[in-house]
Amino acid sequence: MPAAVLAAALSGPLALHGAIAQAETAYPAHAITLVVPFAAGGPTDVVARALGASMSKTLGQSIVVENRTGAGGTLAPAFVARAQPDGYTLLIHHNGMATAPALYRKLQYDPLKDFSYIGQVADVPMTVLARRDLPPDDLPGFIKYAREQGNKLNLANAGPGAVSQLCGMLLQEAIGTQFTTIPYAGTAPAMSALLGQQVDVLCDQTTQTIPQIKARHVKFYGVTTLERIKALPDAPTLQEGGLKGFEVKVWHGIYAPKGTPQAAIDKVNAALRTALKDPAFTQRMAELGAEIVPPEKQTPQGLQTWLQSETDKWGAMIRKAGVYAD
Ligand code: ASP
Repeated sequence: MPAAVLAAALSGPLALHGAIAQAETAYPAHAITLVVPFAAGGPTDVVARALGASMSKTLGQSIVVENRTGAGGTLAPAFVARAQPDGYTLLIHHNGMATAPALYRKLQYDPLKDFSYIGQVADVPMTVLARRDLPPDDLPGFIKYAREQGNKLNLANAGPGAVSQLCGMLLQEAIGTQFTTIPYAGTAPAMSALLGQQVDVLCDQTTQTIPQIKARHVKFYGVTTLERIKALPDAPTLQEGGLKGFEVKVWHGIYAPKGTPQAAIDKVNAALRTALKDPAFTQRMAELGAEIVPPEKQTPQGLQTWLQSETDKWGAMIRKAGVYAD
């Protein structure tokens, strides 16, 4: 609690009311931290830094990105859920906010109870990649090879709760094989391992993989959307390559601790919506295959409703698969 508000609280309700009103109109009075659950340089970090740079123009304060990695991206929400609800600590996260409650039996937070909601950002396709020297050159060839090799193939991911883990799980199920999975603190280090030929397969978001695909540093088997994407018009979908109905899209939300003042939520939401129209942000996202969400998803209600439906959907699928992370 700001010192001025505390002092006012000691001198009576009217002074307190005035001090709170003053603190809220002064918000933000200093830099805001945006917590990213994965390693710097990865797809979530790429969106966070570009979004933060745009939002800070409206807020008049810098947005400082803090990478809090670990446990498949669940340590960061646990930290933000317990942070001061003063508007100076925010979280950006993806589908992991909806899958973690089913994957983790001892989760340190409840995504549907411990947060205030700011809004959604963008939807990002995923891509299935292999190290450059893996023999198969296309998805049908990879499907055949993966069935032959089984767990001799190493799939890198960012741990249970990461979308790279979710995509890997769906991929091995669709192919009918079982990879050996190697977890990293994010798909930035996972990509380094793939480029270094230390792992064989990686399913990751276009916000990190498009530059590597265009530079032909990796083998590329397709995108995880049902339709081809504008950013990679010649790239086949996994559905075209033989995995009928295979779809994984990565959505992103901005959160604050439960109890964050409405005035702060409104200001951050206004800065978010301005950023989602800022060509400096939208052009960069388009190049990286990310699709800005429509206005109705850019609101607190638009995020909260979506999170509830995704939690119900993925929760049922994960519980049916009987997989747990802890
Ligand atoms: N999006 C995560 C990252 O930025 C990776 C993942 O969720 O798979 O590293």
